[in-house]
Amino acid sequence: MKVFIGIDIGGTNVNIGMVSEEKQVLDETVIGTEPEKGPENALNRVASAVHQILKAGQKNADYKGMGVGLPGLLDIENGCIIEASNLPGWQHYGITGFFKKHFKIPVFMENDANLAALGEYWLGAGQGSDNMFMVTLGSGIGGALLSNGKIMRLHPMAGEFGHMIIDKKGFPCTCGRKGCLETFVSKHGFQRLVRERLYKHPDSSLQNYALAAITPPIIAAHASQGDMLANRIFDEAGEALGIALSNLINLTGVTCIICGGGIANAWDLLQKPVMSSLEQNVFASIFSGVKIRKAALGEKAGFMGAAYLAANSV
Ligand SMILES: [Zn+2]
Repeated sequence: MKVFIGIDIGGTNVNIGMVSEEKQVLDETVIGTEPEKGPENALNRVASAVHQILKAGQKNADYKGMGVGLPGLLDIENGCIIEASNLPGWQHYGITGFFKKHFKIPVFMENDANLAALGEYWLGAGQGSDNMFMVTLGSGIGGALLSNGKIMRLHPMAGEFGHMIIDKKGFPCTCGRKGCLETFVSKHGFQRLVRERLYKHPDSSLQNYALAAITPPIIAAHASQGDMLANRIFDEAGEALGIALSNLINLTGVTCIICGGGIANAWDLLQKPVMSSLEQNVFASIFSGVKIRKAALGEKAGFMGAAYLAANSV
């Protein structure tokens, strides 16, 4: 049985798993990254966790390759990180080289957002789709476009879906431009929308919080209880996301959209404004085929996508 090892290294945790060619997750584990101790310390602990799984593993398993996911801007050819804000000091350390030396199997590397998309395509909410776009709504916004199970990318810096401009006269974004999608749909985007509208809603239950303490889950909880301001925030964020997705759908014709990340947990609140924006803005002939779903694999999508990358690269 051909088996592939998937490793998804994040700023907090490393998700590790073994997936067979027949899409069976045979084993999985999670360890802390502790990035401040440096790459060598973390990678040594990852390697021993993998060795432990291999020791306990099935006798007929034939380990054919390994995929490694990392955040930030990567030098895939040389197997290292160029820039990753949540793994400070890890730049230029030979990560794929480390694992190749340890395990003597082919090792492949990819950005974690792209791997999450591949994971959903292979084993999650994107199964069966020829083309797919995954948007990850977290502290920032990630996006990955797949065509026939392959990542579409013309430039390593491309795919910045969160910085698609929604309002050219809009609020300043962290990227230095104005009115990007992230100024609507992110923790800071939600806080900004609350700050700008709070004075119009003196009866809102969100008045009981210090502004800095208001998070998307808090706004979602109050929206579900019927708070008008909280519902308006989700309507506005959903509309902005819908406009960005409409532009993407009209440009590429992608019809399967998967929404993941922490903010997508409130999908029941986002779905309606997103769909009504799509209905309004996507060409009717394309809109009829559009399917938009919540991601299914959560944190596990990354290691599954890493295993898929290895399975498709060896
Ligand atoms: Zn921006």
